[in-house]
Amino acid sequence: MTLLSKSTYLMGLQCPKLLWHRYNAKDLLEPPRTLAQAIFDQGHTVGAWAKRLYPDGIEIGPGVTDFDLVCAESRRKLVARKPLFEPAFRAAGGYARIDILNPVADGAWDIIEVKSSTSVKDVYLEDVAFQAHVCTAAGLLIRRCYVLHINSNYVRQGEVDPQQLFTQVDVTRNISALSSKIEDRVNAFAKVIGAAEHPPVNIGPHCSSPYDCPLTHRCWSFLPEHNVTTLYRGTKKAFKLLDEGVTAITDIPATAKLSKAQQIQRETILANQAHADPAQLQAFLGRLKYPLHYLDFETMGSAVPLFDGSRPFEQIPFQFSLHVVHQPGAEPEHRSFLAAGREDPRPRFMEALVNAVEPSGSVIAYNAGFERGVLAGCAQVLPQHAAWVGSLPSRIVDLLEPFRKFHCYHPAQHGSASIKAVLPAFTGKDYSELAIGEGGTASLEFIRVTFSDVTAEELARVRNNLEEYCQLDMLAMVWLVDRLRELAG
Ligand code: SF4
Repeated sequence: MTLLSKSTYLMGLQCPKLLWHRYNAKDLLEPPRTLAQAIFDQGHTVGAWAKRLYPDGIEIGPGVTDFDLVCAESRRKLVARKPLFEPAFRAAGGYARIDILNPVADGAWDIIEVKSSTSVKDVYLEDVAFQAHVCTAAGLLIRRCYVLHINSNYVRQGEVDPQQLFTQVDVTRNISALSSKIEDRVNAFAKVIGAAEHPPVNIGPHCSSPYDCPLTHRCWSFLPEHNVTTLYRGTKKAFKLLDEGVTAITDIPATAKLSKAQQIQRETILANQAHADPAQLQAFLGRLKYPLHYLDFETMGSAVPLFDGSRPFEQIPFQFSLHVVHQPGAEPEHRSFLAAGREDPRPRFMEALVNAVEPSGSVIAYNAGFERGVLAGCAQVLPQHAAWVGSLPSRIVDLLEPFRKFHCYHPAQHGSASIKAVLPAFTGKDYSELAIGEGGTASLEFIRVTFSDVTAEELARVRNNLEEYCQLDMLAMVWLVDRLRELAG
């Protein structure tokens, strides 16, 4: 019988078609993207901090990938009655490696599942229930189960304090209802895996929940370019339409209820041309006051805060790119900042930003709520800049607004108002020539070259890539404002 691991058990819960491919056609699954890999790596860092809560813990089979060896080693170490890190057990058609198995009274054990998120998600309960099921079937007496997740209220001061970094939640009662289903599910999944062909499964919300499915590129490939899943804020409606056999936006029946934005989408696809509302665009552009400041930030965040005065996942700015245009037709002035070294970048970032932004004029950002939030976070730890930060909101203009409100829309946006979709649709320019093409990669690359040892050439290369990326994000706004002026007439 094929053994299920906890991750393949969760795959089976998400989609039996995915489970079948995992065992029978693994090469068709897309490998994890860089960002997914980074999340995985972050999990290891968080796991290492969690282990510090159990100083007398024993690591089981570090570096050993042979499952039989790890299981045998785990069995041997049970008699020590010490916290065990990553012991593995096999029973009842499944095998599970436990983050922390902690000995308690009367020969029993507690399971502690470590997560690098800030809350307990439903999928974690399924995960822990499966682990408890395997351990119990393997002969262990399991007393309680816990999820140990990141405490979002923790503020680092000095050395990281693992006692404060984590919140431990007792999920024993939550998983008891799930446990009774596991045996039947394991048997059903074994049948799926053993079948000659994968089960037929329609695409649906499960393709991205709880995890992005690595088969999406295949299962979704039948959809036409302007398909119903690209309806603006229309996920639920899209899957209902797909169930009814409607795949293209242009085939949506006239009787279907569409939002104003979705109607504009359909009209632009049918007409094969962009939509613009000149009056609304003129009103938006009329809010821009010279000198114009086009501003873009790059930030980093990590589960374990890197700096004093920061919280888990708090976005710490390390770079900005700014264009200042003093009057219509004037040559823009470029100002930028990119942190160097391992210290907290916020003091120097804020100093540079305060000096770079002129005392008056609009500050244009795309999805400006993000910039506002980052600046508010900086003001909390750098009170000397609080008054300046407090004066900025009235000057900030969010360039996302005309796109999110559909004051203009191009069918090539495919229902997205993100700058990565809007820029090529309206200007023909994009990020494809750049070594760094999106903010998540910028953040990862900055962390990589700053907090690990790389050669001077590598450091210079990545810093150059970061400058290019942040500058393009900012220039994209300059080009889009120019384009809005054309559309406003
Ligand atoms: S893309 Fe969707 S339907 Fe296809 S295997 Fe993944 S979850 Fe299942």
